[in-house]
Amino acid sequence: MPVFESDNFDNHERLVFCQDAPTGLNAIIALHNTALGPAAGGCRMWAYQNETDAINDVLRLSQGMSYKNAMAELPLGGGKTVIIGDPNKTKSDNLLRALGKYIERLAGDYVTGQDVGVNVNDMQVIATETRYVCGLSKGNGCSGGDPSPRTAFGVFLGILAAAGFQTDEPDRTDLKEIRIAVQGLGSVGYHLCRHLHEAGAQLLVSDIDKDRLNAACVEFGAMPVDTARILYQEVDVLSPCALGAILNQHSIPKIKASIIAGAANNQLATEADGKLLADRQILYAPDYVINAGGVISLAYEYLHLGNEQDAMKQISKIGPRLTTIFHLAREENRPTNEIADRMAQQRLARIYS
Ligand code: NAD
Repeated sequence: MPVFESDNFDNHERLVFCQDAPTGLNAIIALHNTALGPAAGGCRMWAYQNETDAINDVLRLSQGMSYKNAMAELPLGGGKTVIIGDPNKTKSDNLLRALGKYIERLAGDYVTGQDVGVNVNDMQVIATETRYVCGLSKGNGCSGGDPSPRTAFGVFLGILAAAGFQTDEPDRTDLKEIRIAVQGLGSVGYHLCRHLHEAGAQLLVSDIDKDRLNAACVEFGAMPVDTARILYQEVDVLSPCALGAILNQHSIPKIKASIIAGAANNQLATEADGKLLADRQILYAPDYVINAGGVISLAYEYLHLGNEQDAMKQISKIGPRLTTIFHLAREENRPTNEIADRMAQQRLARIYS
């Protein structure tokens, strides 16, 4: 595929194609932008249909990481790794070690971590070959290998900010009488529900995993909702914490929530869907701004930027940052995702000038 002509190519600095025949490794590492620091972004393993899909994904995801890290004010650039293959069938320690050797050869220009299809144990295996890994179970910081609780906390602060923006209460600390639909009760969604419940929200929840669903209903007094209907409930807030691309031309007209604020990456199927939401007066918290709590915590640990309290202080900026985006969007009558992209691009451009 002609990479330079791809819609997803955005002057990426480097693409590294990694192959290791004995272990079956086929992977691509993309370094989108290292102006702010080493390109940081997780490693995803997925049964891509073909190489083109994998290239497009790594181009798009690494650019997203540049924006996320820039907006979170971290001294990190954006990167990503995709391994082509079904994690349940072709993942092996040898394959992960082969990838680790490739990452080590990049000499710190790229730092990896967990993503879909790759877990903290896999990170330990990769770390036997390279120093450039964060989110290890024996990490020296606060994450303990799992950034999800920090991500959830950041999303909670983002929901408070969005609710406060709508009711003109910038310092809002509770969610009493606010109805929130949470899609996905995984590592982030479940922790998020706990914060929301403690803040007084009424929860409607959905997950394909019935055990998680039942546990959330018991622990948080939440109402279970069918997975096909969770996006369209009569609620104040919709919090997508499962899949990407759920906000699209088909779903948006049916959404009843006036706020969308959740952890899932790439919630908008296309950029234009941000405008569809704005046209319907739905306040959308740009995903890479609201879900940065985990990466902030990992960055503090990996780069020794400070202790747990310092990381939490940085995570607490997520609320005010979103409020700034909401105000600008209102003043300029533009979608929030466009405002966030522009802010991220400006931060990256300032470094170059
Ligand atoms: P996870 O895999 O632990 O949880 C996802 C949950 O969604 C699972 O319980 C799964 O059963 C459920 N699910 C899948 N399809 C569903 C459907 N159609 N309807 C309802 N539920 C469904 O993942 P996670 O770590 O909690 O991450 C959730 C989202 O947040 C992902 O999009 C991820 O990329 C994003 N994210 C996570 C972090 C983090 O720190 N873990 C950071 C930033 C972004």
